[in-house]
Amino acid sequence: MLTKSDLQSFLQCSRKLWLEHHKPELSSANDASTYRRAVDGNIVGEKAREQLGEDLIWPSSSSNQNTAAEAAKILLASSPDKPGVEIPMVRTGLYARADALIPQDGSYILRETKAKSFPLKRDKITPDTPEEHHLNDVAIQAWVMEASGFPMSRAELNFLDNQWRYPGAGNYAGLFKQMNVTSEIIPRQSAVSVWFQQAENILSGSMPEVVTGKQCTAPYECPFLSFCEVRDPPKPEHPIDLLPDSAGKKLAKKLRETRGYKSILDPQPEELVGAQAELYRRIQAAHRSGTPILEPGSDAVMDAFAYPRYYLDFEGIDLPVPRWPGVRPYEQIPFQWSCHIERAPNVFEHREFLDLSGNDPSLTCIEKMCEVISLEDNGPIFVYYAPYERGRLEEFSIRHPMHSHVLQNYIGRLIDLLPIVKDYYYHPAMQGSFSIKKVLPVMAPDLNYANLEGVQDGTSAQAAYINAALDSGTSLARKTDLEINLRKYCRQDTWAMVLIAYFLARKPPPIRPTGM
Ligand code: SF4
Repeated sequence: MLTKSDLQSFLQCSRKLWLEHHKPELSSANDASTYRRAVDGNIVGEKAREQLGEDLIWPSSSSNQNTAAEAAKILLASSPDKPGVEIPMVRTGLYARADALIPQDGSYILRETKAKSFPLKRDKITPDTPEEHHLNDVAIQAWVMEASGFPMSRAELNFLDNQWRYPGAGNYAGLFKQMNVTSEIIPRQSAVSVWFQQAENILSGSMPEVVTGKQCTAPYECPFLSFCEVRDPPKPEHPIDLLPDSAGKKLAKKLRETRGYKSILDPQPEELVGAQAELYRRIQAAHRSGTPILEPGSDAVMDAFAYPRYYLDFEGIDLPVPRWPGVRPYEQIPFQWSCHIERAPNVFEHREFLDLSGNDPSLTCIEKMCEVISLEDNGPIFVYYAPYERGRLEEFSIRHPMHSHVLQNYIGRLIDLLPIVKDYYYHPAMQGSFSIKKVLPVMAPDLNYANLEGVQDGTSAQAAYINAALDSGTSLARKTDLEINLRKYCRQDTWAMVLIAYFLARKPPPIRPTGM
C-alpha cells in the first residue's frame, strides 16, 4: 500500500520515492533539522487538536484497511456529531490520514494543519496563495476521503497566524487561521489517481535517471543529495549561475538564453552589466585567473572604524507555538549572544550570555547587553548579515519599549561586514556565495567548524536549545554538555568576525584566545 507521503515524495522527485523504498540506508538526513521538524510538528498538532475541544474521536495509529473501516464506522455511525483527528482512510491501495474531519450539516470539513505561518504577500497583510505542495497534500486526502464514506463540505488549510501574539495564561485562541482551499483542490483530485499510478510504476522499475536541481531543496530538503550529486553528469567548472543574488541569477539566465553562455568565463566583461557589474567582473576575473582578489581600499574602510569595537552574534529560537507572552509564531527570540570586544587594536575581551532556564530570555538578554555594550563610547557593533541582528533588536524594541532607546542606539551602530566583503573580496572557492560559511574557510582556514562538537550551525544550536531548555527529559549531564557546545559555537562565530575584519584590514590575524 502506498501512503500520502509516498505521493508527496513522488511529486517532489521520482528518484526520491524510489530511494526511500529501495535504498533508505543511503539517506543522510540532517539530525538537527529532522529533530526540529518532529518537535514543531508535534506541538502544532497538539494545539490544533486542542482547538477542536476535548470530545473528539482519535483512532489508534495503524495503516491497515480494517482500521480505516473501523474509524469510518465509529465516526459515521456512532459519533456523527464529533470531530475526528488523524482518521485513517484507504482508497484502492492508497492510505492517508485526515488531520481533522469536522462535522458540518451532515458532511465534513477536511482540515489539514501545517506547522507553517499563514501565507501573506510582501506587505505582510494581504493573504497570498498557499504553496502547491500544500494544495496537493489536501487534494490527495480529499481523493481518498471521497471513497471512504466521508462526504466533504469544504477543504481547508489550518496555518499559524504569524500576526497573532500570545497573550499568556495558556490562551491559544487565535493561534491558527484557516484558508478555504476547496476550489483549488477540486480540479486537482482527478490528477491524484494518475500520480498514484505513476508512483507505482516508478517503484516497480529501476532507479530513475534524475539530475539534481531545484527539486532537491524544495519543498523539502532531500536527504539523498550527497548520493545523487556524485552521479550527476560533470558540471561546468565555473558555471554562469555563480553570479550572486537574484539580479545575478537573472542576468545569468539572460546570457545563457540569448548568447548561449554556460560558463562565467564566456561573457566579455562589458556584458556583465547592472548595479553589481563591478562585483560580477571581479568574480569573473578571479575565476579566470584562479586566484582570489582583494581590492585596494578595504584596509582604509576598516581603519576608519573607532574603538572599542564590538563583534556581536545572536542565536535565536523561533518556536511555532509561542511559550512566552507577546511573542508571535516563529518570532526569533535570542537566547544567547557572544561578544568579542576590541578595546584597542589587538586587545580583546570576551563576554557572553546564555539562558537555558526555559523562561523568556528576552529581558535578561537586553539587560546583559546593556552591561557590556556601552551607550557612551558609541563604538561600532560588527555583525555578519545585519538584517538578522537588526530584526531581533527591532522586535525587542516593540516588546520591551522601556529599552527602546538603548536598542535603537545599538541598531544605529550596527556595521555589516558582509557588504564590505562583497565590495572588496572574492575567492573562486566561494562559488558565488558571500555567506560566512563560504567566506571563512578562505579568509581563516584554520577556524574549523567541523571540529566543534554537536553544535556547528544555527539549526543545531536551536536543536540544542530545545533539548537543554525546553525538554524536561534531558539529564543534567546532557544539559551541561549542550551548554558547553553552545558557548563554544557562538564564541567561535564572533571570533570569526574578528578574523574577517583583520583580513579586510590587511593585518595579520590576532592571536587566538586560549580555549577556542
Ligand atoms: S537529491 Fe534531488 S535528484 Fe536526488 S533523489 Fe533527492 S530530489 Fe531527487
